[in-house]
Amino acid sequence: MSDKVTERHEERRGHVDGATGDIRRFLPGFTWQSIPILAYKEEGSHFRSITRQVLFEGDADLPCQARYFEIAAGGHSTLERHQHVHVVMVLRGSGRALVGDRVIALAPFDVVRIAPGSWHQFRADREPFGFLCMVNVERDRPERPDAAGLAELRATSEVAEFIRL
Ligand code: MN
Repeated sequence: MSDKVTERHEERRGHVDGATGDIRRFLPGFTWQSIPILAYKEEGSHFRSITRQVLFEGDADLPCQARYFEIAAGGHSTLERHQHVHVVMVLRGSGRALVGDRVIALAPFDVVRIAPGSWHQFRADREPFGFLCMVNVERDRPERPDAAGLAELRATSEVAEFIRL
């Protein structure tokens, strides 16, 4: 094995890049070197079959986080809204999302901005649906719809059929 190949192999095992954390190699199964697979949220039953990997924790000069979420077939994220913005890029599979009052189909490398105060929810189709989601490090807590909010969402039949609580 050449030195170069050996070096590459060592990187994959986390012996080189892991020392600084500046590079996180992409690994099989949509995982990244030294990045743990976490629960989507700490608690609750308002989501299903979804994991979280924090790829970038934020920096003093770049106070945002980059998270990779992956929803298993049939799963969904929380139906929520908040004042902070999300920018999402699909990386794996296909799915659909509620964005405001629209349900949109999403495929790899589509980019979606979730505006402040906009209801949103992501659902996987028949395969794992993975996406990168950028957020500010300092952000407000998500809000879930109350009865009035739900009634408003359900006024659109497409949205009523799509949402999961
Ligand atoms: Mn959100």
